[in-house]
Amino acid sequence: MKKTMVYLVGAGPGADDLITLRGLECIRHADCIIYDRLISARLLEEAPSGCEKIYVGKAVGEHSASQEEINALLIEKAGQGGSIVRLKGGDPYVFGRGGEEALFLYEENIPFQVVPGVSSSIAGPCFAGIPVTHRGMARSVHIITAHTKSGGLTDADYKRLAPLEGTLVFLMGLGQTAEIAAGLIRFGMGHTCPAAAVSCAGTTEQRTVSSTLECLAEEVEKAGLNSPAIIIIGETVALREKLNFFENLPLWNKKILVTSDRKKNGTLSHLLEAYGAKVTAVPMTEIVPMRGSLTSYLPLLGNYSYVVFTSGNTVELFMAELYEAGGDVRKFGGAKICAVGPSTCKKLLEYGLRADIVSSIHSGEGLLDQLRGILKTTDSVLLPQSAKANPRLEKGLKDLCSVDVVSVYDAVRLPVADGLSTGDFDAVMFTSSLAAENLATVSDTTALKEGKATAFSIGPSTSAALRAQGIEPLESGDCTVEELVVKVIDYFTWGESHG
Ligand code: SAH
Repeated sequence: MKKTMVYLVGAGPGADDLITLRGLECIRHADCIIYDRLISARLLEEAPSGCEKIYVGKAVGEHSASQEEINALLIEKAGQGGSIVRLKGGDPYVFGRGGEEALFLYEENIPFQVVPGVSSSIAGPCFAGIPVTHRGMARSVHIITAHTKSGGLTDADYKRLAPLEGTLVFLMGLGQTAEIAAGLIRFGMGHTCPAAAVSCAGTTEQRTVSSTLECLAEEVEKAGLNSPAIIIIGETVALREKLNFFENLPLWNKKILVTSDRKKNGTLSHLLEAYGAKVTAVPMTEIVPMRGSLTSYLPLLGNYSYVVFTSGNTVELFMAELYEAGGDVRKFGGAKICAVGPSTCKKLLEYGLRADIVSSIHSGEGLLDQLRGILKTTDSVLLPQSAKANPRLEKGLKDLCSVDVVSVYDAVRLPVADGLSTGDFDAVMFTSSLAAENLATVSDTTALKEGKATAFSIGPSTSAALRAQGIEPLESGDCTVEELVVKVIDYFTWGESHG
């Protein structure tokens, strides 16, 4: 049986990249994960296949597992051996009952480790632009739960809290904002003391209300703020005016639909989220490798004069086949390598290959123009590509010399759930013509056609597919996802004229 270890892991306050590296490693090697509410689904996807995932949090209106039930589960799973991760929001020891669980494991003689997490009590204020301590303003920070065994805070509590000069951070207190403010004012805290409430801190759903102690409850109510939320009271709240970096990100509150295949969706979504966008990722296409398609060509690879790569996908699948066949980059022999676009070059370099000829214009046609002056009729070209590739490159090359075209993958449309409407978004991202075509068949694209939502396209062929549907897109400068994101940021910062 595998050795048992229970890890009490803090997952951070909600955004999936606010976990520690150690915490992530625990998830990646877990045999079983027992997790709470507010844990990002993307974090759980990091678990190895076969890892058992058990939810013990409370859905709205439902019963959550009691501490006794959780403890019983810990014993049961520990008994089966292996690595058990008890995943908790924020830090396990900050109002997360982590201490109780650790003591229980100690009593039961079950080996355990604790992995600290970024607590919402510190990160929440940070993402609202509020330092919890600040020289000359707040020399201490006090983290308080408004949720006590007796139901709430008492006058004795307020009497102790009101004279404190540091920052007060209340967890689990949104519903009691008015009582907390009244209690503190009753025991001498200034009614104009800066105060704020932050909900869903650190995520693209974050909302902040900042006010005075006296008016905070009313403002929270007016804004319709929901839990999870924290309340922050103290002079440093005023610094938010200058330090509110998060809600001032260029794509903050922008709703963006990303339609690429799964892999590209990941990169693009991540980049957009890093600038504050609310991303909905709906993969419209999938890459299906056509394994074995290169089998008869690989032994002769070194005999070709040129091998032409038109995308990073092609490079990846080509190299996978080459490795599978027992070969490596030496098989290219004297064949020169041609590439379309910087992402293709970058991908080639990952395999230790530098392209000899790179199209200066980022399209197959651009490369063709360059090759016209170079290719001789005696040359031979290998062109691995998508089964749905635009035929122009192939045709053009065939006019110049002998060409072997091999489909190494197919891009297929994915079914998409009903009810998707571009009207629900500020922008829609397209990284392939197939995704553009698929979107039109599965959703209402009126908003895109009327310019109420803006379409962004990775390059000329995707743009052409969009135009064919009456949608005028803004296009990435160099066919890369990175430049596409720059385009989106410029557009939302400066408007269409600068887009
Ligand atoms: N151990 C957790 C706290 C658990 S108690 C931590 O260290 O963060 C649950 C309370 O934490 C919620 O009621 C709320 O007050 C606060 N909270 C958790 N995540 C939050 C978030 N993303 N934004 C604001 N408050 C959050």
